[in-house]
Amino acid sequence: MPQENQLLLKLFFPFCYRKCSYCGQPICSYDNNVIKAYGQAMEAEMEAAAAELPNAVISAVTLEGGSPALASPEMLQKLLRFLHKAFPLAEDVQIQIQTMPGQFSRSLVQRLQDTGVNFWTIGLETAAPEEHQLLNRPYRFDALTMVDTAIRTFQMRKLNFSLLYGIPGQSLHSWKHTLDAALAYSPDHLTLNPLRLISGTPLADQCQKGDLPPCSHQTAAQYYEYAKDLLLSLGYEAYTITDFARPGCENRWRLSHLLGAPYMGFGYQADSCLDGVFYTNGHSLKEYLEHSAKLPVIANHMARLDLRSQMLRFVLSRLTLAQGLSTQKLEQQFGQESHKLMKEVFPSLIADGFLTNDTAGEDVMRLTSLGIASGVLHRLEYL
Ligand code: SF4
Repeated sequence: MPQENQLLLKLFFPFCYRKCSYCGQPICSYDNNVIKAYGQAMEAEMEAAAAELPNAVISAVTLEGGSPALASPEMLQKLLRFLHKAFPLAEDVQIQIQTMPGQFSRSLVQRLQDTGVNFWTIGLETAAPEEHQLLNRPYRFDALTMVDTAIRTFQMRKLNFSLLYGIPGQSLHSWKHTLDAALAYSPDHLTLNPLRLISGTPLADQCQKGDLPPCSHQTAAQYYEYAKDLLLSLGYEAYTITDFARPGCENRWRLSHLLGAPYMGFGYQADSCLDGVFYTNGHSLKEYLEHSAKLPVIANHMARLDLRSQMLRFVLSRLTLAQGLSTQKLEQQFGQESHKLMKEVFPSLIADGFLTNDTAGEDVMRLTSLGIASGVLHRLEYL
């Protein structure tokens, strides 16, 4: 369970160099001047927030997006120094940054490690050139060699590779190749995400028109099972349905967030959840840049989570965690509100092979490989 006063912080960068073909996230196009102004706006927002939260202890920080490393190493270092001054950080705080192959330089690694970054997530996604091209990833494929140089020469601390399975046309052979490419660096952590075809994206359109063969959920489930068996045999532990870590190397932000720790996001589009109130930042980037220090002004979609939303968060997080969802706890905590889930939704998911019900001891629901690979949790979000 989250400790008292524990708070997670997120620095959110909505910028990308170009859009990946499967991405359904709204992104802002890369502009050097805007990114500079964005850094200043974030500092103003952090300063205002720190004054409101004098007793919080920060256990984990994540820099994510988008693409945080589109900001210069100097700017990121300045922001992190500012954060260190503004908030009391736990002695063993974990600071993660999401990066992409092609974004590493000695300056970036050294400056960020000097300011506490100790968990590097590298969005490799695939090591197969044809899949890389299909996904329209915003770095050149030969940038993979820069990852190689960075890892071997810059002594980066904890490494996480994020990989995608279920890519249209992906073969088991190419999935094994991608896993092997990541495992060659003995990473501390791997994040395996099933590719979701999001309606309206170029990749989904190509599949819909019949120009590309989508990967079936059954095939994606086989790829997941292959990877899971391999990683468990190599000593990794599966602590969520997507995350595998060497003991003690879990992504603390992600784990604490799933366990319900409060969190605060800085930046345009960043979300926060404090004392049961959920909100996101800013109606527009322009508004964020102009008013970032005025927290109530930039917060929109502000809402106290009602019992139903709290229950859905509980269900989604427990089904994401390896421990699964205790139906007894669900009933105890949410009473009548949980009855529709228990009587209609879960039995239908079990009948379709997405969920299992482990009745040894207390009742625990877990997603099957098919449930994980098909991204069935996203359906629950819209209940
Ligand atoms: S890098 Fe991530 S956020 Fe940016 S376009 Fe690609 S998938 Fe979307």
